[in-house]
Amino acid sequence: MGQKILVVEDNELNLKLFCDLLGAHGYEAEAVRDGREALERARAFAPDLVVMDIQMPHISGLELIEQMKADAELRATPIMAVTAYAARGDEERIRDAGAEGYVSKPISVVRFVEAVAGLLEAAAERAAAEPEPADETPEAVADRQDAAEEGEAVAETESEATVEEADAETEPLEPPRHSRESGNPASDGDAEGGGEEEKLDPGSSPG
Ligand code: MN
Repeated sequence: MGQKILVVEDNELNLKLFCDLLGAHGYEAEAVRDGREALERARAFAPDLVVMDIQMPHISGLELIEQMKADAELRATPIMAVTAYAARGDEERIRDAGAEGYVSKPISVVRFVEAVAGLLEAAAERAAAEPEPADETPEAVADRQDAAEEGEAVAETESEATVEEADAETEPLEPPRHSRESGNPASDGDAEGGGEEEKLDPGSSPG
């Protein structure tokens, strides 16, 4: 089959892990290390699914998800978010942004691959149902929901072959400086270290 998966992840270890995993399962994985290139690369690669890290420098995965879901060309591509944070509210924000699936780090390799397969299946069913919406049976709708929930369940499932939390240890978790520019009303939660944004700079005081 060789379905194409774009992997957007700034952490080199995770990037290699995800791409190796996907390759081992017959997918064609394309690595994107810099989130700023993600949309352009997605248009060029035309992936069947995007694996999207959330904590990245320069631009957060949340913003990228919103941008992709606002893009007519990329909107239909399912996105599986991957995040080192499991704080309450994170998953909701990720889903509000438009991601179809969510997996928390450290990932279980088994669940990761299952979630990818589930999202691809759900997307294929959606695509098949599109030309003839009248043919969509209640069963098909239920199946799709099941598949979507599979992705969701991953976050709650305990790891089997747990990967070290490399991302959290090796990358500087910068505050999401760009989030204010995006007009995202939910971006100032403390889950992303947004407290830093309140810091006053004494040097800039006019008096
Ligand atoms: Mn990251």
